[in-house]
Amino acid sequence: MLNESKKQIAILGSTGSIGTQALEVISENRSLFDVYALTANNNVDLLIKQSRKFQPEMVAIGNEDHYQRLKSALSDLPIKVFAGADSIAQVAEMQPIDMVLTAMVGYSGLKPTMNAIKAGKKIALANKETLVVAGELICELAAKYNAPIIPVDSEHSAIFQCLAGEGNNPVEKVILTASGGPFRTKHLQELEHVTSAQALKHPNWDMGAKVTIDSASMMNKGFEVIEAKWLFGVSPEQIQVVVHPQSIIHSMVQFADGAIKAQLGMPDMKLPIQYAFTYPERIKTNFPRFDFDACSQFTFERPDEERFRNLALAYYAMEKGGNMPCILNAANEIVVAEFLKDTIGFLQMSDIIEDVMAKSTFIAKPTYDDYVKTDAQVRLLTKELI
Ligand code: MN
Repeated sequence: MLNESKKQIAILGSTGSIGTQALEVISENRSLFDVYALTANNNVDLLIKQSRKFQPEMVAIGNEDHYQRLKSALSDLPIKVFAGADSIAQVAEMQPIDMVLTAMVGYSGLKPTMNAIKAGKKIALANKETLVVAGELICELAAKYNAPIIPVDSEHSAIFQCLAGEGNNPVEKVILTASGGPFRTKHLQELEHVTSAQALKHPNWDMGAKVTIDSASMMNKGFEVIEAKWLFGVSPEQIQVVVHPQSIIHSMVQFADGAIKAQLGMPDMKLPIQYAFTYPERIKTNFPRFDFDACSQFTFERPDEERFRNLALAYYAMEKGGNMPCILNAANEIVVAEFLKDTIGFLQMSDIIEDVMAKSTFIAKPTYDDYVKTDAQVRLLTKELI
């Protein structure tokens, strides 16, 4: 039975890193939140486990091959079961849902996020690729359908928290912090030989494989710069990246009077997830607290765009606009998948992306269909160039 006093939450991508942490937040706060829907792409076993525990109204699995297994494993429960990518997009627009957490990986987040926005849902946005690929379209839709987008990405959540209560006070710039990842101190020659296993060992954050590789290559920060542009309506010159290896300052805002506000805390995604769920309120948590005695200094470095060219490629794509960020993203998804198999080297990822960006058809004012076409064509082209 639906409990109307609780916030009804749909989690798209519930078996990934953000999805599982979101369910931990919900389990700690069962009096506030109900899981209305869960979706996953492939991990049917975990989806079954989660469904039995949280008893959502509906579940959907992207990969249709898993439908029978999911359906029969839940046959003793009153849970509606769906399969296929379209069903995930449809689940996102169900009437009783108050908030949709978009936590799927990559481009696949675009369509379901659009559907949820059109249905007027509050969006807790964890799928940054949605804004990278089609930020302009998403922001137009969100304004038209009055759907608030609340960032879950820790940097953007930090900026969002710094902006709370500031009304229309003019922002001079937003300052995104970056950990620098596992290869921060490696020389260019060393980067030629690093493996995916080394890249998967992030010093501060425990995340899914795709975003961990993106962090090591700084593409994640490049995407976050584009994400910030759309979320906060700032221009490229107003977005600065600062490497802060301790990952305690999660990001900052500098206002017109020169004042800088920062949000700090332990690197734990559960805080930004919970803040998106409870915003504008804050509720008590038992997460570990930052200990000033244990961390004696904060340091800051300028990002090195020579060793980490993806950051420069992302700035270029953002300034170029149109479908260029979509090209950047599609090429990146392919090269990351190849790097994870160690079929290409770490530095080759940037080489190939740059080549694909030069060879793809540029569209200045893309429609949704143009994004779909661009994504498909760029994936093919990238595979050809590898
Ligand atoms: Mn982030």
